[in-house]
Amino acid sequence: QICIGVLALQGAFREHIAHFRKLPGVTATEVKKKEDLKDLDGLVIPGGESTTMALIAERWGLIPELRSWAKGGRPIWGTCAGLIFLADRASGQKEGGQALLGGLDCKVQRNFFGAQINSFESQLPVPKQLQPFEHGPAKYRAMFIRAPAIMEAGPSVEILSEYRLSAEEQAVTEGRECVAVAVRSKQLLATSFHPELTEELRWHETFVDMVRRHQQGDKPGVNGRSPS
Ligand code: GLN
Repeated sequence: QICIGVLALQGAFREHIAHFRKLPGVTATEVKKKEDLKDLDGLVIPGGESTTMALIAERWGLIPELRSWAKGGRPIWGTCAGLIFLADRASGQKEGGQALLGGLDCKVQRNFFGAQINSFESQLPVPKQLQPFEHGPAKYRAMFIRAPAIMEAGPSVEILSEYRLSAEEQAVTEGRECVAVAVRSKQLLATSFHPELTEELRWHETFVDMVRRHQQGDKPGVNGRSPS
């Protein structure tokens, strides 16, 4: 049995927990205080509002606890606001910035899609290199809610999914064709969209796989792949 904790300060944590509980051999639990971090095999930082989430985490004294939990190299998955939390660099932050966990060598832009449309859905091709996506539909439903985009990624970061920008969007991004919306780097997984708000379970399975591998002491190599 593996135990996944979902940071439950604000945002879409219940939906994540419900998804994980559908998977065999997995328990999922809310993380509200530092004691809840004990005995977790993996942690999810859900979508919501990253500034608010950071503020609550700070007020409750959770930031140093989360940092030291993360330092252990344990698996963490950030969705949407959680991606912003994990990114080493973020733009479009409010005055004064906010506390970020960091560790993911990426630059994200907050509310990247928010300027055009606040919320939309897209069907994206599955990342076939992830085992749970080897079977099932060739596309997955991605729900973007005032979502951030990954604008730059360092060499240790593997891009799992990209979103192709429309001509209109390209006009305001200096002709850029794609932005990354799902990445993996060592023990970190990050997605701009919300798999927990759709019937899609394969992203949750992917994270559980990462946790299982980590437990078995299979340290991922560059790009999160196991050294062969
Ligand atoms: N726009 C939000 C933020 O900047 C993220 C939105 C979300 O998590 N759905 O924190």
